[in-house]
Amino acid sequence: MSTPSTINEALRAMRAQYQTSLPGKLAEISALWETLRHAETLDATTTQTLHRLVHSLTGSGATFGMSALSLAAKTLELTLKDELQSAERLSTELSNRIQAQWHEVTLAAENPDAARPEKTSKITLEMEAKAATKQSSSTILLVEDDLDQARNLELQLGHFGYTVKILHETASLNATIAETHPAVIIMDVVFPDSDMSGPLAITALADEIKASIPVVFLSSRSDINSRLTSVRAGAAAYFTKPVDMGMLIDKLDSLTSDISPDPYKVLIIDDSTSLAAFYALTLQSAGMDTRVVTDPMTMLDAISDFTPELILMDMYMPGCSGLELARIIRQQEVYVSTPIVFLSAETDIDIQLEAKQFGADDFLTKPIDATHLISSVTSRVERYRTLRTFMVRDSLTGLLNHTKIKEELDVEVLRAQRQKSSLVFAMIDIDFFKKVNDTYGHATGDRVIKSLSRLLQQRLRKTDIIGRYGGEEFAVVLRDTDGVSATAAMEHIRKAFEQIVQYSDDTEFTVTFSCGLAEFPAFASADEVSIAADKAMYEAKALGRNRVVLAAAHADKP
Ligand code: GH3
Ligand code: MG
Ligand code: MG
Repeated sequence: MSTPSTINEALRAMRAQYQTSLPGKLAEISALWETLRHAETLDATTTQTLHRLVHSLTGSGATFGMSALSLAAKTLELTLKDELQSAERLSTELSNRIQAQWHEVTLAAENPDAARPEKTSKITLEMEAKAATKQSSSTILLVEDDLDQARNLELQLGHFGYTVKILHETASLNATIAETHPAVIIMDVVFPDSDMSGPLAITALADEIKASIPVVFLSSRSDINSRLTSVRAGAAAYFTKPVDMGMLIDKLDSLTSDISPDPYKVLIIDDSTSLAAFYALTLQSAGMDTRVVTDPMTMLDAISDFTPELILMDMYMPGCSGLELARIIRQQEVYVSTPIVFLSAETDIDIQLEAKQFGADDFLTKPIDATHLISSVTSRVERYRTLRTFMVRDSLTGLLNHTKIKEELDVEVLRAQRQKSSLVFAMIDIDFFKKVNDTYGHATGDRVIKSLSRLLQQRLRKTDIIGRYGGEEFAVVLRDTDGVSATAAMEHIRKAFEQIVQYSDDTEFTVTFSCGLAEFPAFASADEVSIAADKAMYEAKALGRNRVVLAAAHADKP
């Protein structure tokens, strides 16, 4: 990925490039106008093209440091739209007026804005600072004098993808932090030398360290004094021993997860290559992931491949309008709630209202200030993510719910078909789960479900899609994978899960699961894949449980 300073350089380069390409654009407009001016009748297509080209100058000009041009083009654009497009023939008066306004445009094109400080520079600096201080690791520094307890915790945390560095005393704390850059410190409270050593050692750390690395205390003491000292030392959490692993992992997940949330995915649809690249770079400078479509006709493929969390769309494009595209997007159930933000030099309030009726979420007027663009996109994607959480997520595990994972399977099978790739659908069902509930109670059962959910999230790839299919059943879509690799991956997870020690009050126990897998295209549709995976799962149960079975494709299939 580009760094913020290379992005800034790229923005400057684009500005220069725009100015170089300007004469070509002006020549194109000039040629069209000359044709129109001397024609017998007004050709509708030509007038529309002329309007679109002038319109694009109003938006792009100011963006690339040509605000005088933008302003002059705006005046001309209004005349073209309000008078020329509705005129039956070109009167001498109108022709002269357009000619004069066109002349103003060409003059303004000679005058780029004085160099001004980049609007993005403040954001860029913040990004650079963040990148520099970002903790790259999921390393946990565990400071614990009891060797057995430390080893056990290391093992358990290891199942959830955490690397643990153990330290048996507090003396070398500073050196170890400098060496390992831990994401979180887990600190025992009582040590042989003092029963408050842990909090005291944290208090003694440098302020920068305390501010950047959260500390979780773990103690056999649950009295108010010990808790108070820990709070004063800046504790992010306090757990008493024996620690509830589920709660500890939850805490560690939440403390480490906001270090790198997934970047926002924004699809940019604009026929102007340079403007689209400008928006892309601006959004990338704020850490977003972008995809650009300059040919609106390829929009649908881009949406299904990239699954954007927001679509930034130009209002006027050759061939079709932004409004029409928005309607097409909204006609598809899956994209009903994807935010669409229009970008346009259009200030006409009626058109803006019409756009909102067709599902536009916002309307940004060109030229768009970088800070404004970033903040508008950010707030909409954030809200979209929150809303989607309620709509498609299961509340116990945060995984996709039944409906959503089935929908994802449909989408992914279509994609695999198009890209001629394979995928695997996995069904997972916890073994003898009724017994867990009956023996330890429903709350413990819930924690077991959560522990499997977390394990799946930690161990599968980011591109795999995980859902809670039903009570103690899970489903996973493993993208771009074949049956053999998927079986190996699920075997790994199966072995890790059977080793996880589950706790209920004072007892410890372990749980297993059975898994059935089916591959596409060996099974040719989403339905067939899902039925085959389900059958394979029951086969795994019948074979004795705690195993992974890959569905064999029918011999009679090609
Ligand atoms: P098998 O190995 O054959 O899968 O045995 P099993 O006991 O897991 O079989 P079954 O699917 O019949 O039992 C699932 C149980 O899971 C039944 C239900 O009470 C319990 N269950 C379903 N949803 C939840 C939930 O959200 N929380 C808890 N604690 N239990 C649940
Ligand atoms: Mg079941
Ligand atoms: Mg079961």
